[in-house]
Amino acid sequence: MKQPTYADVDATPKKLLEVKQRDGRMNRYPPPDKWDDWVEWDSKAWPKKVPRRYTLVPTICFNCESACGLLAYVDKETFEIRKFEGNPAHPGSRGRNCAKGPATHNQTYDPERILYPLKRVGERGEGKWKRITWDDAVSEIAEKMRASRAKRLDGIMYHVGRPGEDHYANRAIKSWGVDGHNSHTNICSAAARAGYYLWSAGDRPSPDYADAEAILLVSAHLESGHYFNPHAQRIMESKAKGGKLIVLDPRLSNTAARADCWLPTWPGSETTLLLAICNYLIQNDRYDREFVRKWVNWEQTLASLPDWAETDELRALAKEPRTFETFDRFLKLRYRDFTFERAAEEAQVPLDRVQQAAEIVARAGNRVAAHTWRSATMGNRGGWQVARALFFVNVLTGSVGTEGGTALNSWNKFVPSTYRNPKPFDAWNELHLPHEWPFAMYEMSFCLPHFLKEGRGDVDVYFTRVYNPMWINPDGFMWLDVLRDEELMKCHVALTPTWNESAWFADYVLPMGHAGERHDLMSQETHAGRWIGFRQPVRRVAMERAGKQVDYTWEANPGEVWEEAELWNAITWAMDPDGELGARQYFESPTDPTKPITQDEYWGWIFEHAVPGLPEAAAKEGLSPLAYMRKYGAFEVSAGATQPFDLEIEKADTHEVDDLGRVLVDGNAIGVMVDGVPRAGFGTPSRKLELFSETLYDWGWKEPEHVVPWPLESHVSPNAIDREKGEMLLLPTFRLPTLIHTRSANAKWLYEISHKNPVWMHPSDAQRLGVKTGELIRVQTEIGAFVDKVWVTEGIKPGVIAMSHHLGRWRLQEQDGIGAGMSNLAQLAEDGAERELNIVHGAKAWASTDPDTSRIWWQDVGVHQNLTHAVHPDPLSGAHCWHQKALSVRKAAPGERHGDVWVDTEASMRVYREWHALSRSAVDHSPDGTRRPLWLKRPLKPLANAYRLPEKPFGR
Ligand code: SF4
Repeated sequence: MKQPTYADVDATPKKLLEVKQRDGRMNRYPPPDKWDDWVEWDSKAWPKKVPRRYTLVPTICFNCESACGLLAYVDKETFEIRKFEGNPAHPGSRGRNCAKGPATHNQTYDPERILYPLKRVGERGEGKWKRITWDDAVSEIAEKMRASRAKRLDGIMYHVGRPGEDHYANRAIKSWGVDGHNSHTNICSAAARAGYYLWSAGDRPSPDYADAEAILLVSAHLESGHYFNPHAQRIMESKAKGGKLIVLDPRLSNTAARADCWLPTWPGSETTLLLAICNYLIQNDRYDREFVRKWVNWEQTLASLPDWAETDELRALAKEPRTFETFDRFLKLRYRDFTFERAAEEAQVPLDRVQQAAEIVARAGNRVAAHTWRSATMGNRGGWQVARALFFVNVLTGSVGTEGGTALNSWNKFVPSTYRNPKPFDAWNELHLPHEWPFAMYEMSFCLPHFLKEGRGDVDVYFTRVYNPMWINPDGFMWLDVLRDEELMKCHVALTPTWNESAWFADYVLPMGHAGERHDLMSQETHAGRWIGFRQPVRRVAMERAGKQVDYTWEANPGEVWEEAELWNAITWAMDPDGELGARQYFESPTDPTKPITQDEYWGWIFEHAVPGLPEAAAKEGLSPLAYMRKYGAFEVSAGATQPFDLEIEKADTHEVDDLGRVLVDGNAIGVMVDGVPRAGFGTPSRKLELFSETLYDWGWKEPEHVVPWPLESHVSPNAIDREKGEMLLLPTFRLPTLIHTRSANAKWLYEISHKNPVWMHPSDAQRLGVKTGELIRVQTEIGAFVDKVWVTEGIKPGVIAMSHHLGRWRLQEQDGIGAGMSNLAQLAEDGAERELNIVHGAKAWASTDPDTSRIWWQDVGVHQNLTHAVHPDPLSGAHCWHQKALSVRKAAPGERHGDVWVDTEASMRVYREWHALSRSAVDHSPDGTRRPLWLKRPLKPLANAYRLPEKPFGR
């Protein structure tokens, strides 16, 4: 097609699509009716006015979990993607993105990206590869999977980092009939999820920030949270309307800087501080009694008191009539010690600021939007109680599912049913969820090397999917050991869009697409409302719009970069060619079962059958549901706050009601009687919000500090850190908002903005140690030590040092691997149990197809601190407790170089065993011979039969 000349272009002014944001700002976008043929001046030709013609294809960002909408500008002549901008039709992001969204362009055209399937030809980690075809890769890997499946149902492991989609891979794993799902969640959000789940059977919060009067964040959620851009714009909307922001964070983050009330808490004191807010509401009768009376399991709590009450007063209360007045007195007795004074002292914050926070919450009524994700919940031992205490604030204020309150994720996330859903498997992989941690909320993946090394098993086929376990997990040298071990990890397949440290030790490296290069369906709980977003391979869609036939997405992407949806089809067909395993049937075309299902068939079925309102909306425009989603990329399923627990249910006469008021069908609770009306309730055993957790009590966590929201002493409490001896607390749980885990190294714009992670240190500590900004210090942890530069700032508490994760990338060869401008060239060394990583040189400019790589001006790309972090599996939630004890911090000695790391792997195993000893095994505490409470979430739940305790539990 000929590009238009200036004279060809229709000079009639186009009316841009205007979107008036709720904060009053106006954005303008190309109107959707012009998306098929949009003309803009070529920016590269400036100052000449050279018009170029684009087709605009919506897709979904893949650079964090928010799933914001993007609009790709694809050149109609060359199919080159000129840029990515926001998609105004997306209900979550509403046309806006953070810096990482448009940087998808960098990732797409990164000169260092992997373009073809590769197979290892040398030793693992030697860096010798040969290019192979997709056919060969699929058939060789499928053969190994088939062989494993023939022997056992726990030999295939799919370890996902960035999911970025809601079901496709899980559907494939289920079809294989194996317990194969593994995730990064135990280093990310598992403890927060555990806290929410024990309350409500919902595993994360979904705040309605936009309409909140008080926003309570235990995190830096405004600048770098999990649902960053959609949440940030709504937090700012609330603030514009007078909403107040309270932030608990030991660090003066950009979020704390925007707070009305910043509480720089000592790490581990957050639960106490939140309970002080609760206590203020309770003692002053400023809590929502009606909500608590209707929806909290107060009768069950009072009934349980004789079993666990530890004071005479509480024991006496247990003998009184079980009325709500008695429960009110219970609350007042139980939480009365959480005074402002105690909170201020433990958190080391000013007393008046605690009072201010409590008053902001008390005045907000049932419009309190609260959130925690990684932060304190994942930093501290017992962090799950931080989430319990935070949601207690929501419960007491009645802000559960209200406008301006906090819903549960499942109320706002829309996951449609799919075409032919595979049945649950009958298997349990002990490497995912060992018997010692029956409450592990998601798989214990960060301890996989320790499990393998102590002889719990091995893995036949290990997929890492957009994941870099050696780099992102604590104790990375343990990962290095097992990734090199072909007995423990028999085959490692890295599905990755970019080179990473772990992929270097894979057997197959398979290039997977970025945001504009794949099909996925996504929904997230970004606000009070539900939507779906459709990620599309934008060049393929543009080619198809131009009438070109594309059979597989890799034909349209750069090189032979593929997408997983088509890869899983191909692998499953190759693994089960004759349908004997029962897997292939889920990937057969509905019109011709002798052929694989196509992407159009698969997504078209969902959009037509499983998304309420979409077929009608599409029909109004004369489109099929699939064509509608290909055009707009998103659809709003419903809007507004919702309280599904309050819905009245139909109760048949045959339904029983037990003494907890639960409505039972065949012994299973489907609802709960509230004031004589059958209502849906929550997914908990009592169908109520569980202040007292009978499940914890029954499974051996009987102590008062476990069964109700209560502070647990962190491993980095002031008692554990001897500051007189020079010990400090290393806080590694924050990230810079322009970083994408390990994929920012392929986004040049982002790396120019942020590429180093110096140690934040308070001036009083810097003075004590005699160091100034920019000087080198050596930090010794429980298992090793690293050397980094220091940044002296009042933005961190005395006694605490902090470092951003996601930096300190390294490669082992000068020419290959992660780009030279984004990584250190490193050498690995080993002596017995000791491991070292030494930096040869930092980043530098290099010549490539992209002239910008010759303009790299920085050398410091940070330090890989995670190598020196000991694993700390929380005794209950199983989550990694990220905060580290710095045994010593001192000025670096001559010869100690920036970025150098040393670790003793014997110490790694020792610390792992110390924490392991704190766990409470299902073997000793299961009340019913199962290995885990059945009602707890698992990403892929096996049949109930698989829950029975193993006959030979490991270590017994
Ligand atoms: S917030 Fe996340 S999904 Fe949205 S543009 Fe930024 S990186 Fe992409």
